[in-house]
Amino acid sequence: MRPIIKTLPANISTDDTIGGQKESNAVHHALIESLGNYCSYCEMPLSGYHVEHLKFHAAWPEQVTFRQWDELLLICNDCRTHIRIPELNDLSAAAMLWPDKDPSFSLFNSPLKYELRKVNYIVENEGEIISQEMKELVFVVAAKDAGEVLYEKAFNTITHFQLNMQLEFYQEAKGELRVPLSVHQQRLDNRMFKRTETWFDALDSINRLKEADQANDGSIPNFAALRKLLVNQIALTAWWAGNWSVWMTVFYQQTNDLELLRTAFAGNTHEFYGLNNDHDALFRAQ
Ligand SMILES: [Zn+2]
Repeated sequence: MRPIIKTLPANISTDDTIGGQKESNAVHHALIESLGNYCSYCEMPLSGYHVEHLKFHAAWPEQVTFRQWDELLLICNDCRTHIRIPELNDLSAAAMLWPDKDPSFSLFNSPLKYELRKVNYIVENEGEIISQEMKELVFVVAAKDAGEVLYEKAFNTITHFQLNMQLEFYQEAKGELRVPLSVHQQRLDNRMFKRTETWFDALDSINRLKEADQANDGSIPNFAALRKLLVNQIALTAWWAGNWSVWMTVFYQQTNDLELLRTAFAGNTHEFYGLNNDHDALFRAQ
């Protein structure tokens, strides 16, 4: 979960009271401008719409105000399904990890990790198995490296936003993901599939960079400048694909090249505006 910083537009203060729908629209706009067009939880690009999330999720206001700025984030419709599942809303805001307040991702001691897992993907309809195949899918996993408290928060966050599809679908001990036919056919929850596609796109990207490095026998003029262009193109691909934590994870696993990660995904470029690029927190070895 991408760590973020929210910045109010220069001409706005949290004391402003424009009021009504006009203010609500302005808040939406300011959130997108500040954080980029991504869901704050699953990191998917928001498509065509965005919905604000008041941290006190039981109350879902029609309109939001700049006074609530500290409590607002962007959320996609898939992450927002919890609103229809009362037992998920029993969790308090304090029990969860918030990407604008907690260390939600780092390379070395992250409370949330991204893992490619092999699962038996079973499509079923009213108890009957329609199909099954082995699939590789990227799961978001709670990790204890950052301590017990953050582990609990990470676990609750995955549960609350159902970041790995509906929890009851996944039988971790059996390595099975049992998905109802309607969910499978309509791709009702696309987050895990897109996250996985992004994982393989990131692998593809790093392999191209490695190929370029291998082809460099010293005879290519301006190789450094060309390599920089390729890295910029990868950064742009990542910007379109979203799933920032996946890019960081794959590139780190494949290269250990912190300078490359800084340049491509945590620089001060526009690509990931809203990123809290506190390099110490993101990159510090423990
Ligand atoms: Zn989302």
